[in-house]
Amino acid sequence: MSFENLKGQDSAVSYLKASLRNGRVSHAYIFSGPVGVGKHLAAVNFAKALNCSSSVSGSGSHPELVDGSAKLTIDPEQSRRVEGCDRCSSCKKIDSLSHPDIFTLKPKEEGGSIKTLRPFGRLKAVLSNVEGRQAQGLYPERGRGIKIEDVRALIKDVYLKPFEARKKVYMIEGAEHMKHEAANALLKTLEEPPADSVIILLTENIKALFHTIVSRCQVVKFFPLKLQEVEDILIKEHSLSKSDAHTLSHLSGGRLGEALKFKEEDIFTKRSLLINKILSPFKADFDFDDLPKEDVRIYLDMMLAWYSDILNMKAGAGDHMLINIDKKDIISKESGRLGFDHIEDMIKSVISAMTQIEQNANQKLAMSVLGMKIKQVSVCTK
Ligand SMILES: [Zn+2]
Repeated sequence: MSFENLKGQDSAVSYLKASLRNGRVSHAYIFSGPVGVGKHLAAVNFAKALNCSSSVSGSGSHPELVDGSAKLTIDPEQSRRVEGCDRCSSCKKIDSLSHPDIFTLKPKEEGGSIKTLRPFGRLKAVLSNVEGRQAQGLYPERGRGIKIEDVRALIKDVYLKPFEARKKVYMIEGAEHMKHEAANALLKTLEEPPADSVIILLTENIKALFHTIVSRCQVVKFFPLKLQEVEDILIKEHSLSKSDAHTLSHLSGGRLGEALKFKEEDIFTKRSLLINKILSPFKADFDFDDLPKEDVRIYLDMMLAWYSDILNMKAGAGDHMLINIDKKDIISKESGRLGFDHIEDMIKSVISAMTQIEQNANQKLAMSVLGMKIKQVSVCTK
């Protein structure tokens, strides 16, 4: 895995490579951008390039740490490694998460295991106020956060000499979930940066970080790809059919990492289950609140996409506007059967369930109400 695997983030990659090449590596970075666009992959590759022990022709030297104001002492003519080699012991240890000097800190739920946030990519198209909500990360888990104890442990370690790395690297994922006192503690470390460590804060919501933290870090921005780019990559490099690639690119909202995760999680089987439920709500075993709890977010996202498709088709949009393009026949039938009011009613109900769950309402109840709505609408005709 190299920077080349990081698709569509050319400006971030160029910036990081230039820092490595020119020996201007900062003590702290913020990698900012939505989930699933490659921030973590970039951080891992940066750590590998900083520590790769494979020799580079012309020089064995590597970048020295400088803060924003320090003078460079490195000969700019010397060539430096801007990629890990993937073969040396350092690169291998980083890849297998066994390097003693490379750390990842993630937000944890109180007394529970790590959970990932998965904002709804499609919501933006439907909700006008989504930007702020999406920026906050939808469905924040109650009590979730990076705690002072975690940051204290990091700070204690950060000033110690590395075991074997040239530069220790600390990746703080979901940095926006740092509790206030944790952020304050980290701030002190950023003010007195240790010589042989690099701290990388990864965040979906840079606005939630203290301004004082942001001002002490180099900010590197990551962006979603164009949907067509994601589709092309999925077809060419992951052997997906055109229609599957189309659906995944839309569901992911241009976040390639999310699209690949959906593929791994066999999202098309989940979608079939969902569509079967929606289309036959009067089957004896219909029960909308029995959808797997951990997957409810993606089910709601797919549901929103489903009704958006029906609405779009009813409004006369072209096929290219459909997310579930392989289900065009069913969508066409549904758009003929349902009136605009009913479709919009369903969309509002899905969004309402999303909002309630986001606000920590009873998930089972919210889904049960949505199930009743499906039954109600299914007996309606225009
Ligand atoms: Zn290497």
